[in-house]
Amino acid sequence: MALEAAQRQNARRILRMRLRVGDLSGVVIEALQFALETVVEGTPAEGARIDIERVTPACICSACGCEYDLLSPSDAPLEGRACARPGARGSVPLQQEESAAGIPSMLSYSYECPKCGTVNSDLFRGKEMDLVSLEVD
Ligand SMILES: [Zn+2]
Repeated sequence: MALEAAQRQNARRILRMRLRVGDLSGVVIEALQFALETVVEGTPAEGARIDIERVTPACICSACGCEYDLLSPSDAPLEGRACARPGARGSVPLQQEESAAGIPSMLSYSYECPKCGTVNSDLFRGKEMDLVSLEVD
């Protein structure tokens, strides 16, 4: 996908790629990075720097509209977490690429709203795999 974007821009060379990958996308960042480095060999993107940013999964509460990050088992307990942007429903552009594989790690996350305790199941963030930017020569 990065290469197609570069071709559209008539780039001679890609210097840097930035991607954003959700923790629940089913993508292992190290594996993706390695795969990209392999794929770009012999292309205008060969030798490009590849930056991959992890995205913490988040929900918007259906009951109170609170936007909150999901906690993975390794994160801190629910108490004391602030509501990032209350009432921010729908303000974040959503671009998703569904993973075909099952995502067992989803089950280990807490989906409970830190504000009102409602358990929500609709992620608005955390499953994406987006190309954020491309620096070309
Ligand atoms: Zn809530």
